[in-house]
Amino acid sequence: MINVRELKKQFGSQVVLKNIELSVSEGEIVVLVGPSGSGKSTLLRCLNGLESPDGGSITVGSINWGAASSKKEKKQALVEVRSHTGMVFQHFNLFPHMTVLENVIEAPRTVKGMSRDEAVRLAEELLKKVGLLDKKDEHPSRLSGGQQQRVAIARALAMQPDLMLFDEPTSALDPELVGEVLKVMKSLAEEGMTMIVVTHEMKFAREVADRVIFMSDGVIVEESDPESFFTSPKTERAQRFLRQLA
Ligand code: ATP
Ligand code: MG
Repeated sequence: MINVRELKKQFGSQVVLKNIELSVSEGEIVVLVGPSGSGKSTLLRCLNGLESPDGGSITVGSINWGAASSKKEKKQALVEVRSHTGMVFQHFNLFPHMTVLENVIEAPRTVKGMSRDEAVRLAEELLKKVGLLDKKDEHPSRLSGGQQQRVAIARALAMQPDLMLFDEPTSALDPELVGEVLKVMKSLAEEGMTMIVVTHEMKFAREVADRVIFMSDGVIVEESDPESFFTSPKTERAQRFLRQLA
């Protein structure tokens, strides 16, 4: 599903991703952890084309691009990869002037050209899935942070993506609202969605991840199944990271 080879990314003279090698299979749940500034967000942003690689190549499904691609090839790949990938950020960025339902039907209507009826049907199904069908006619400002984030997940799912990327989806939420968002993510994982999740929620990582990847300074330092990672991390760097969280 995903194949990243020798991915390099730099901002000015600062190299932020150094020869990242990553494969993710269909249906796999990968949790990405690591200290602040280690390159987690940049890696996710490279995967859905929000950042362009300075070295190496990326394959997502049948779409392939890399540093060596021409401008035109890259542009085409990015349009395609974005329509197959859903991304959920820390800040939900819902359209404030639109209702919940309008937020969810916007992309399928404008990007996929779906009919209004079909988009509404899909949106209602997704809002039901995230437990917010009764809020469909509200504006986002009338919802709690946890509810807004669940709408953001429904909005991302409305593009019927093959892959979902989550970048600290619960970090901006009050603690009592974190659980409802993680629950939605967990059910998505159980349905077989391919997911890469950056999170500090170690209980979620332990329960839901098939694999944990630990990054530090732009490098994948360690990767293993969650049980081994949390009980016996191999590297001193990961041990230190886990101690700091405890
Ligand atoms: P956090 O846990 O704080 O979210 P992160 O692991 O997601 O950190 P990134 O956001 O990927 O880290 O950032 C990696 C490095 O790249 C940081 O040093 C950051 O300052 C730098 N960086 C990220 N985006 C940009 C940008 N657009 N321009 C310049 N530097 C950037
Ligand atoms: Mg980040």
